Amino acid sequence: MAAQRYGVIGAGILGVAVARRLSEVEPDAIVTVLEKEDRVAAHQTGRNSGVVHAGLYYTPGSLKATLCRRGMGLLRDFCADHAIPYEERGKLVVARDALEESRLREIERRARENTVPGLRRLDCDQLRELEPNVVGVAALHSPRTALIDFSAVTRALAVDVTARSGSVVLNTEVTGIQQIAGEVRVRTGEDEFGFDRLIVCAGLQTDRVARLAGGAEDPAIIPFRGEYLRLVDARRHLVSRLIYPVPDPALPFLGVHFTPRIDGTVDIGPNAVLALSREGYRRTDIVIGDVAEIARSRGFHRLALRHWRTGISEIRGSLSRRAFLREARRFVPALAPEDVERAPAGVRAQAVDPDGSLVDDFRLARLGRVVAVRNAPSPAATSALAIAEHVASMALDERY
Ligand SMILES: Cc1cc2nc3c(=O)[nH]c(=O)nc-3n(C[C@H](O)[C@H](O)[C@H](O)COP(=O)(O)OP(=O)(O)OC[C@H]3O[C@@H](n4cnc5c(N)ncnc54)[C@H](O)[C@@H]3O)c2cc1C
Repeated sequence: MAAQRYGVIGAGILGVAVARRLSEVEPDAIVTVLEKEDRVAAHQTGRNSGVVHAGLYYTPGSLKATLCRRGMGLLRDFCADHAIPYEERGKLVVARDALEESRLREIERRARENTVPGLRRLDCDQLRELEPNVVGVAALHSPRTALIDFSAVTRALAVDVTARSGSVVLNTEVTGIQQIAGEVRVRTGEDEFGFDRLIVCAGLQTDRVARLAGGAEDPAIIPFRGEYLRLVDARRHLVSRLIYPVPDPALPFLGVHFTPRIDGTVDIGPNAVLALSREGYRRTDIVIGDVAEIARSRGFHRLALRHWRTGISEIRGSLSRRAFLREARRFVPALAPEDVERAPAGVRAQAVDPDGSLVDDFRLARLGRVVAVRNAPSPAATSALAIAEHVASMALDERY
């Protein structure tokens, strides 16, 4: 039988992990990753918080819960095998009053159901012992939550793909997809590729690329910029672990948190502000086509009605450093305005259903010989090696 030809669109961590998995299970296959940028990990993968999540919040039994737990173990082993730094710095979710303490108990219940390793509940004295600058009435400690550089992981995955005679083709934007006569034809400017199977892992563009392959209009991607402040060097010691607030279950994001990074810097953020450009990282970046698409999206209208209050407070946080700091000072009161500077932002690809709900779980869709990742928000980087196993088994299914 002739060697199977697999195409993957997107060289973020998911695309490259899927390519590596396919070349592992079918060593004779020809695997080609097509990426429009001049490097791997150019978008979400290279602009995130760098946290290996242990699986605290996710609905037990969901793809997020199961693939995050498996992905974390696979990632740890991958880093050990490839000499990539992986630091189990630990995370604290801090409750500041009785209401948050009751919400913390629900998080603890989920976390235990998700078998998060080493989980421990702390009272305020135990919290102060671990983090003298953090105030709260109680906290949940996840000691195995880790710091990592997801770009470094993606580069190492790409080396494995090419070592197994696959290829990662950069500066190559996919502009057309057609399924004809038992194969998938993929157009990229001047060139055309033929594949037996195609996997779409196009991050912020994944809805548009899936539509090229005949996929449904929804869920649409709505981009949310995540902005960070960075502690100046002299104040890095304010926290040593990841410090998170207890999320409000009525709100869609986790809230501003303290994020130590593997390079020694400490960031505060990200917030979540509607982005007017899918791949624009400054507040002033506006792409008219992106804005028009948001305005046309049925899901966005309903989402905006539901969350307009949060939207306004997040935009105020975005425009005013003071409002952003006020949030962070609720659990680290020693933080002063002169302790921070601006840090690079990221943009999240968040899928939204037509009824206005943010798609919470990972979502994968099959379109004949094409498998499309339609929603892969955090913790998809943590889960990448497990998502890759799952997606590869869908792509290898011989019934299609
Ligand atoms: C601010 C922020 C913080 C986050 N923090 C964390 C965290 O701490 N831990 C965690 O686990 N997750 C985190 N995430 C989520 C995580 O970064 C993403 O889930 C993950 O990177 C998704 O990977 P991806 O490969 O799907 O997407 P991307 O990394 O966005 O890759 C998609 C690729 O597809 C390419 N592409 C798009 N269209 C085309 C086309 N037509 N032709 C060719 N190529 C194309 C793009 O150029 C891009 O390189 C965070 C995300 C953000 C934005």
